[in-house]
Amino acid sequence: MRLLVDRERCLGAGRCVLTDPDLFDQDEDDGRVLLLTGPDEEPEVTAAVRRAVQFCPTGALTLSDD
Ligand code: SF4
Repeated sequence: MRLLVDRERCLGAGRCVLTDPDLFDQDEDDGRVLLLTGPDEEPEVTAAVRRAVQFCPTGALTLSDD
């Protein structure tokens, strides 16, 4: 299971940051989501990540099976 982030769909609502501030942040310029991981690092799909995906109002966060 892999977390996919579509920054074009993100409206900067910030719910993901409230759900898991250790993984999600917002860009200071446009407010869109950023992942606090290294460039080649896959984030672990934790329960908090699943909640962030569930509560993102724009569908910018999804989980993939591949
Ligand atoms: S919850 Fe969704 S729309 Fe809001 S900042 Fe996070 S990814 Fe963007």
